[in-house]
Amino acid sequence: MTNRSTFDDVMVPNYSPLAVVPVRGKGSRVWDENNNEYIDLAGGIAVSCLGHCHPKLVQRLQQQAENLWHVSNVMTNQPALRLAKKLTELTFAEKVYFANSGAEANEAALKLARKYAFDNFGAEKTQIISFESSFHGRTLFTVSAGGQAKYSDGFGPLPADINHATYNDLSSVEALISDNTCAVIIEPIQGEGGVKAASKDFLKGLRELCDKHNALLIFDEIQTGAGRTGELYAYQGYDVVPDILTTAKGIGGGFPIGAMLTTTEIASALVVGTHGSTYGGNPLGCAVAEVVVDIISDRQLLDNVKTKHRKFMDGLDRINERHKIFSDIRGSGLLIGCELKEAFHGKAKDLLSEALEQGLMILVAGPNVMRLAPSLIIPEEDIEQGLMSLDSAIANFLSKQDA
Ligand SMILES: *Cc1c(COP(=O)(O)O)cnc(C)c1O
Repeated sequence: MTNRSTFDDVMVPNYSPLAVVPVRGKGSRVWDENNNEYIDLAGGIAVSCLGHCHPKLVQRLQQQAENLWHVSNVMTNQPALRLAKKLTELTFAEKVYFANSGAEANEAALKLARKYAFDNFGAEKTQIISFESSFHGRTLFTVSAGGQAKYSDGFGPLPADINHATYNDLSSVEALISDNTCAVIIEPIQGEGGVKAASKDFLKGLRELCDKHNALLIFDEIQTGAGRTGELYAYQGYDVVPDILTTAKGIGGGFPIGAMLTTTEIASALVVGTHGSTYGGNPLGCAVAEVVVDIISDRQLLDNVKTKHRKFMDGLDRINERHKIFSDIRGSGLLIGCELKEAFHGKAKDLLSEALEQGLMILVAGPNVMRLAPSLIIPEEDIEQGLMSLDSAIANFLSKQDA
């Protein structure tokens, strides 16, 4: 017998999971070990973009499982080749590197930027500019690039020559950037940092600064990619093309996979032997991701994401008229952030617990923001029921604040 308390006995205490232990999911519904039902507006943190156990993904995974699981990168494999071909057809990219997670995709991107600069401009061009409040993963390089000191404190010495500018403040980048800058890495919308979108002018300005200083512009689309914003990748809605793009989370629909996308010219810096991964591009992950990409690259599906966005925003506005709990409701597509009013700052987690009591799974993005990242194909009735449960959860949350 295992249950939540087993976690404390046998797991490293770096997580603090909720009391609920899910055992089954279908679409946007999840059931726990006591058979309680939940509506899932969390989507496994913007991962389960086609809900749980989508029949086409299950079928493809089973089919691949009966054929070939793993060969390593000593050989290539058909699912990886097909997926890479699709990603290059659908984006600016000409070359793809496969990893197993977002952090690994970013690790590859940052290493590539350093190597490309070294090969083409010399050993001085090593500076990486990132942004305060950004999140790029948990390897030592990516926590150092990330803009939240709490994730890198105590792990030093950290990789050097990484500076942090202020998000949406071009002058703060101008103050840091020089010909010694090899890359600027940015999330088009900061996910973990509170669902904050970059302005179009800001990203355009970054593009120009990078061009002026021969620095590579890296878009971390691990959260904003895979259809999340109603575009296959958010850059396509911004009309600003990066040099390197990283994708993970939703692209696997729940199966671990990540990828770095770039041009042939830039990719050429990673010659044989310079980087790699045993599992990267393994047939199971690539087979599933290929079906995910087939489904989510459909214009109709992407337009529906925008329609669902408006449904959520209308519903959240109505809830907020009643309860006056949020100071801001923002986001793009099905990545939505609701910032708590100052009186409730620090209490986003309490709201999450109240939601769970109402059979609703939601996310936080920092201590002050409730985040929603549901399936891109969440049915209308699940949106409605989810918002009703949220309304009740907020009522209960507020009643405890008065007490
Ligand atoms: C989740 C996330 C990562 C890290 O991905 P992992 O798969 O957890 O390593 C990196 N960047 C962004 C923007 C993310 O949202």
